[in-house]
Amino acid sequence: MAGDAKILEPTEAAINLVADALLRGEIVALPTETVYGLAAIISNEDALQKIFAAKRRPSWDPLIVHVLNLSALRDLVEVEGNLFHKLRLLSEAFCPGPLTFVLKKKKNVANVISAGKKTIAIRIPAHSVFREVLKKTGPLAAPSANPFGYISPTCAAHVYQSLGNEISYILDGGPCEVGLESTILDLSVQPLMILRPGVITVAMIENILGEKIKPYHPLVSADPSAPGMLKQHYSPRTRLRLFRKSIKEIIDNFPEYSMEDIAIVYLSSKEAHASGEVEHGLKENVFWFSEEGDLHEVARNMFAILQQLDGMQFHLICCQIPEAEHMGIAVIDRLSRAAAKF
Ligand code: AMP
Ligand code: MG
Repeated sequence: MAGDAKILEPTEAAINLVADALLRGEIVALPTETVYGLAAIISNEDALQKIFAAKRRPSWDPLIVHVLNLSALRDLVEVEGNLFHKLRLLSEAFCPGPLTFVLKKKKNVANVISAGKKTIAIRIPAHSVFREVLKKTGPLAAPSANPFGYISPTCAAHVYQSLGNEISYILDGGPCEVGLESTILDLSVQPLMILRPGVITVAMIENILGEKIKPYHPLVSADPSAPGMLKQHYSPRTRLRLFRKSIKEIIDNFPEYSMEDIAIVYLSSKEAHASGEVEHGLKENVFWFSEEGDLHEVARNMFAILQQLDGMQFHLICCQIPEAEHMGIAVIDRLSRAAAKF
């Protein structure tokens, strides 16, 4: 469903054009280092509502706010004393970057951003293009630029394919460096708690703060107002199944498919070749997330490969998952929620 959106190279003129559109209350897609975001200025409720409409995002799912630095962040949240000390330590270690803080919002922050909650999710993005826009517009709400529940966009073409009819501009900042949504850390509760795992892990945060934080647990809540925890999300249209060592764990359950109907995605090319499928003439069906199995590369490529396979002839996509440790937890989280639909 591609539409009329213009994909713009991030020249100074294009950045000015997009910033002006935002300031007029339009929504536009911008690159971040995690995934592409669908942005609106936070001072215009009509503009914020356009994000919900374009994404078909339910009104109970709060947005995420992006700011330039810690002082701009502090303008929007209540954070004093020891909590500010922790926030400063974390921002010195990880910001700008893929770490989102959930904090008590100031009263003047629009309720539509927080979906009626007392807290907002807020982060300091690293992508230079996003930062240039922020300098001209001030804080921007920008959840991922995809229809609600579909695979997250990691390049401008992904946004164009799914939201091209809904927006005028997509600023092209190249493929996203991280490729996975930010880690969300709730600083409004005690102990501090991970709401969404990402490339910044529990161990990295504990190491900076010198205190235990509550790791992400997918079963922690059935509360849809914390949709980082929604069981089903990030889903391709094609049926998806996960395996650890061998696709034999899956295919016996799908006798209706012949091997040509099935795409197999290994973590690394080494594992793909060790599996024997490539040698058994199934070359066309075998893919890998990363050459060496490096989890940062897996994260960077994962959504793009799912998008690509979703557009091909396959009826079943089988993905290998890593060990459930460090950032493997975030990779498993996205893949298992993508598979939960079927
Ligand atoms: P997205 O960038 O599309 O993943 O959207 C932002 C994410 O932040 C969503 O998963 C929201 O549910 C989450 N989020 C936003 N505000 C809050 C909040 N106040 N508490 C918990 N999660 C939030
Ligand atoms: Mg999203």
